[in-house]
Amino acid sequence: MTEHTAVLIIGSGPAGLTAAVYTARAQLAPIVIQGEPSSTSDQPGGQLMLTTDIENFPGFPDGIGGPELMANMQAQAERFGADLRIDKVQRLDTSQRPFRAWLSGDEEPSISADAVILATGARSLMLDVPGESRLLSHGVSTCATCDGFFFRGQDIAVIGGGDSALEEAIFLTRFASSVTVVHRRDSLRASKIMQERAVANEKIRFAWNTQVLEVLGQDRVSGLRVRDTVSGAERQLDVSGVFVAIGHVPNSDLVSGQVELLDTGYVSTTMGSFTSVEGLFAAGDVQDHHYRQAVTSAGSGCMAAIDAERWLEAQRHG
Ligand code: NAP
Repeated sequence: MTEHTAVLIIGSGPAGLTAAVYTARAQLAPIVIQGEPSSTSDQPGGQLMLTTDIENFPGFPDGIGGPELMANMQAQAERFGADLRIDKVQRLDTSQRPFRAWLSGDEEPSISADAVILATGARSLMLDVPGESRLLSHGVSTCATCDGFFFRGQDIAVIGGGDSALEEAIFLTRFASSVTVVHRRDSLRASKIMQERAVANEKIRFAWNTQVLEVLGQDRVSGLRVRDTVSGAERQLDVSGVFVAIGHVPNSDLVSGQVELLDTGYVSTTMGSFTSVEGLFAAGDVQDHHYRQAVTSAGSGCMAAIDAERWLEAQRHG
């Protein structure tokens, strides 16, 4: 039987759970489909489940663990009546209202919803080499803004040759003794201005034509095994931190073909969280390719909740 809700929230990172707190406090009794455990985390909760210490989320002067912050947000949402479920939306139909969502392969939709807040996040592209996932948060990171501070005085590597890699590398020179940009080709994809800045930075070195074969280390990163793509020679790069910056992919598959997306696959939003489909709102990293922070994601979840609430109210008054 199809269950009806005023607000369906898809995703349980900071955006989805903040939207849940706000819509629950507005008496909208949201259903939150949190997602399922992934290969890199045994709990849903988005990218923060992969982070150890978060020191830049306001309100926690001593920092807080990523999983703990997400558990707090879940408890806060539940306290106000949000219905959190560990499940996955397999299909979403936004061509008619109420919208319809399927949690299984059944013909009948599982949930119908007057409004949907899409907060499915994004994922960092990973190298997919041995050692990488095991040492994630133990020297391997995908976010310099989040983790750079922990690498003071250390020699570290950034993988990639685009704007993200150079931006991360330049930022990391504030903390690290040296930053080696490891790039698989002999020329950068990044914009000229970023290239000039990186080349001019005394702490930045480049390992050209270099492919990462393995992240080394038992409990913490101790180095990288790399191969010169021209000579084929292998060597070890002694670094205690590795920042993977080879791009991000938004998790927008559910609405692909139904809503306006940017060329990069991010959901296009205007005036906060409004998408090209009336009643469908988007929050967090699925629509933000620029800031990608827990706090900005939470902020946009709040915006989506307020937008959805006011939109629903306007619908009721015709
Ligand atoms: P990107 O431009 O797609 O660059 C990804 C880089 O990672 C490329 O150099 C690519 O190498 C490398 N790469 C991809 N897969 C790899 C793999 N499996 N192993 C090794 N290297 C791999 O991604 P981005 O840097 O995240 O930037 C995305 C977009 O955001 C771009 O349009 C960028 O301009 C923009 N951006 C702008 C700013 C800024 O203006 N401040 C900052 C960040 C991002 P190849 O070059 O060989 O393909």
